[in-house]
Amino acid sequence: MSQELTEDQVELKETCSKCLVEKNISVFKKNRKVCLTCSSIYHSNYYQENKDHIIQQNHDYYVNTIDERKKYHKNYYYERKDQIKIKNKLKRLNLS
Ligand SMILES: [Zn+2]
Repeated sequence: MSQELTEDQVELKETCSKCLVEKNISVFKKNRKVCLTCSSIYHSNYYQENKDHIIQQNHDYYVNTIDERKKYHKNYYYERKDQIKIKNKLKRLNLS
């Protein structure tokens, strides 16, 4: 199977605001003015430069929300405890 571009895709061109090269629209993310190449370079640079910060932020988020997550799961169980019990009871009754 060949992956030829449709006529529409060939027609549509966009100029990247970073490298200023006119490229096919298929290498742009929707509604973005930056081509995928520039965008991936930007993001990898951004990550490299802010790596420590990003890792710290993710860690903080994880630690800060851990209680909330626990609470949520606990509530989830308690709210459904009766339902689960009834379900299990019915199951047993059906089996015997
Ligand atoms: Zn570009």
